[in-house]
Amino acid sequence: MMPTAIVIGAGLAGCEAAYALANRAVDVTLYEMKPERFSPAHKSEHFAELVCSNSLRSDSLDNAVGLLKEEMRRLGSLIMECADATRVPAGGALAVDRGEFSAMVTERIRTHKNIAVVNHEVFEIPKDTPCVIATGPLTDGRLYDSIKQLSGGVSLHFYDAAAPIVTADSVDMSKAFRSSRYGRGEDYVNCPMDRERYFRFIRELTTAETASLSHFETPRVFEGCMPVEVMAKRGDLTLAYGPMKPVGLTDPHTGKRPFAVVQLRMDNKHGTLYNMVGFQTNLKFGEQRRVFGLIPGLESAEYVRYGVMHRNSYIDAPNVLTPYYSVKGNPHLYFAGQITGVEGYVESASSGLTAGINLARTLLGKGCIDFGRQTAIGALAHYVSEYSGSDFQPMNATFSIIEPIPDAPKNKRERYGLTSKRALSLIDRIIENGV
Ligand SMILES: Cc1cc2nc3c(=O)[nH]c(=O)nc-3n(C[C@H](O)[C@H](O)[C@H](O)COP(=O)(O)OP(=O)(O)OC[C@H]3O[C@@H](n4cnc5c(N)ncnc54)[C@H](O)[C@@H]3O)c2cc1C
Repeated sequence: MMPTAIVIGAGLAGCEAAYALANRAVDVTLYEMKPERFSPAHKSEHFAELVCSNSLRSDSLDNAVGLLKEEMRRLGSLIMECADATRVPAGGALAVDRGEFSAMVTERIRTHKNIAVVNHEVFEIPKDTPCVIATGPLTDGRLYDSIKQLSGGVSLHFYDAAAPIVTADSVDMSKAFRSSRYGRGEDYVNCPMDRERYFRFIRELTTAETASLSHFETPRVFEGCMPVEVMAKRGDLTLAYGPMKPVGLTDPHTGKRPFAVVQLRMDNKHGTLYNMVGFQTNLKFGEQRRVFGLIPGLESAEYVRYGVMHRNSYIDAPNVLTPYYSVKGNPHLYFAGQITGVEGYVESASSGLTAGINLARTLLGKGCIDFGRQTAIGALAHYVSEYSGSDFQPMNATFSIIEPIPDAPKNKRERYGLTSKRALSLIDRIIENGV
């Protein structure tokens, strides 16, 4: 008899997971609550709805999300096949006709002989059937409560605003300096400001343009993660006594304590990414580049993630998930999509693909496949399941989370090219051995 599995949610991740399972001779029941109920972001009856932009971002191998796409194509991704078939001209990016794209995914899922679609909302995590939960960042109601109560300590987090992440090698260290407060190590990079520069920065920050919040997003701001521009409006010196306080720091370039500092904290094990501490923001992306570009050391910063503000629920993946996206201690329960802490359409689909492949292999008595830290698809899974800091936040595909090549060339384009080449040959080798 064919093994059976349930997939909850026919979004990007759920469709990818259902298709991967079904193609491996697993009998899949896919539950989707639309059109019975729509989340505040979903509008269409079709599956794999792109809730905002129609771009799946760069399609170049110089870009980690381009690499991720190519890995997924080779691994038989439904989302990539439909995206390629419905693409519209968009320079180096892969943008799609969103209606055609979703219609094609829906058709492929509905006509698959091993997939049965049930249009109903699911309220509980199924107890006795292997399952992939792919209900997205807007998961709510009773299922949300059920996930929260999962044995094993799954909890959901809400973050209204997130701080930008910049690449380490784009920070100008002739202006910034490494030091923890009171000389207790060198864990932070500090971008120092004198008085004049600080007040100019505050002026620009408080008058910069913010992104508008969609009607479905509650503009509820937690004190603990208040956007920096909102905090700055409370008073000119609020930041100087708050996230920009200079206490315990001496700028080695001047030998003096700066008037204010912006601190950057390492965001990954390799030290290739830095988070702007306390700089969660809702400024428009262009405004983030302009205003944060006034911070000494960040004039040419490269942003791997801009600050964003929207409701986002995701599980505490580092404590809950394995690098296969299964729940630790429960090899028959998987999570996939944005709810795992990956960020973005392609990333969400990639986790659905990994979860689908590995649940199928588990049900067929084969071992799980770890795509490893040298591929984009594997590095993402390792990032979310192994993040060791105290402030786990969603992550895009980026070269900074992929294990660096030893003695890699300094030239970024060459380095990224070699990283992609290595990743794709690893994927090919895994495919040769059977996925
Ligand atoms: C407002 C918003 C805008 C975004 N814009 C972008 C963007 O422009 N670009 C980008 O790359 N990423 C964007 N993202 C992030 C992310 O890529 C998307 O949320 C993406 O759709 C996540 O895919 P998913 O499969 O995890 O979830 P979803 O695509 O949200 O799919 C979840 C599916 O599960 C269904 N479902 C939910 N609960 C249940 C239930 N209890 N029972 C049955 N079915 C259920 C839903 O109806 C939905 O079809 C955005 C996120 C949000 C919230």
